[in-house]
Amino acid sequence: MNLMYHSTRDDQNIVTASQAILQGLATDGGLYVPTGMPKITLDFDQLAKMSYQEVAYLIMQAFLPDFTKEELVACINKAYDQKFSDEKVAPLKEVGEQYYLELFHGATIAFKDMALSILPHLMTTAAEKNKVDKEIVILTATSGDTGKAAMAGFADVPKTKIIVFYPKDGVSAIQERQMVTQKGENTFVVALDGNFDDAQSKVKELFNDVSLKEELANHGYQFSSANSINIGRLVPQIVYYVYAYAQLVKDKAIKSGDQINISVPTGNFGNILAGYYAKQIGVPINRLICASNPNKVLSDFFQTGTYDRNRPFFVTSSPSMDILISSNLERLIYHLTNDNSQKTKEFMRQLIKNGSYQITPSMRTKAADFYGNFASEEETKAEIKNTFTAQNYVEDPHTAVAAAVYRKYSAKNQDHLPTVIVATASPYKFPNVVVAALQDALPLESEDDFSLVEKLHELSKVAIPSAVTELKTAPIRHDRVIKTSQMKPTVINILGLD
Ligand SMILES: *Cc1c(COP(=O)(O)O)cnc(C)c1O
Repeated sequence: MNLMYHSTRDDQNIVTASQAILQGLATDGGLYVPTGMPKITLDFDQLAKMSYQEVAYLIMQAFLPDFTKEELVACINKAYDQKFSDEKVAPLKEVGEQYYLELFHGATIAFKDMALSILPHLMTTAAEKNKVDKEIVILTATSGDTGKAAMAGFADVPKTKIIVFYPKDGVSAIQERQMVTQKGENTFVVALDGNFDDAQSKVKELFNDVSLKEELANHGYQFSSANSINIGRLVPQIVYYVYAYAQLVKDKAIKSGDQINISVPTGNFGNILAGYYAKQIGVPINRLICASNPNKVLSDFFQTGTYDRNRPFFVTSSPSMDILISSNLERLIYHLTNDNSQKTKEFMRQLIKNGSYQITPSMRTKAADFYGNFASEEETKAEIKNTFTAQNYVEDPHTAVAAAVYRKYSAKNQDHLPTVIVATASPYKFPNVVVAALQDALPLESEDDFSLVEKLHELSKVAIPSAVTELKTAPIRHDRVIKTSQMKPTVINILGLD
């Protein structure tokens, strides 16, 4: 039988891949997981000769069997084109004894581009397939990165609109400029006189607003979500682990079949879960190193078997990992219970009720594929400085967390297998932290991000990405500023429902 998807909380809730992409979250609150792992022949000597797009097709057709070849190829070609500044899309760089998989050559210079540049095409194709005649409206609240990457992906994609809310005083100067200069006739950016949590709650409220939903339907619209639990984001992320392994074979760093480790800077557990699926389909991965910043809820989970979100929250220099509820972990829990939806549902009930749960000894044994640890702010800063001094390579703070945790792992376990460090953002996305680390100084709050970009360039000689230079001259296209209480009328106004 064809591969289908079912909910982690109810294995009778079965849908096709395209339906899972359209729905995002399952109706019972669970996440969609494949009904089994697809059988894919991974001949790495062959894969080593293939382009990123060809590898993407091989992997994605197996996980999304109800898409035709023509449909998938069209999605892949629209996503992984000149928007990526490196023709390899996800180049692998040898730096000292490690390899850095650079996932930051897309439109917003961070790893979210890898999935969000293809999700809109998967979604519109899925809509056609399922005879959905409505136009898709994506509604998101963002603390900076995801909203921008989603807009870049959805910009000018036919039969879609995207509305993004961001807290006016809660994003960096570069992030704000990225928002207000967003191109595309179907993109709408709204600054809020309020904080991110309020915006997030309000978006959830709008999603569940029955009368608004009806109003939308009457005008030929329906809401959808681009968040990281959608399998349309997860599946494209499996691709770059297969591609990275093939590149190692191509570069003769390993022979086909040799084991490697991967180290992933982790927040919502989406990126590393894709690595776990890559291992399940046959990529020879030894350990999946789950790297946390001081919000080390996952690091503690892998070390103790207890997930406990009841703890202080820290604002760190790696903000995309400042997360205490890692949504995608539910999928791993499901697999650790040997695919038992009743048990998974019970763990998630405990998480909602108590903010914590403890897995069983047999589940812990199964979780031994993972190693969890964290890097402090000091360790992250030292890592950026040391790697630049020794190797002339500049890491962004998220990537530095992964590298620092890898060093702890390898020293402790005397494991010196070839290791891929997943590089999730360009250092130019966080110039204040990186410049401060390189200069051994405190972050320079008073200097604006654009002069820090120049300074980082002087210090590192790394080319400034065009995504950053273009920002300086790009025309401002969005200037709405509203109060959080005005979000619903603003959506109604943008969509012309009034
Ligand atoms: C989102 C993000 C992460 C965390 O990835 P998850 O899939 O949420 O674990 C790490 N680094 C950067 C730069 C990100 O944008």
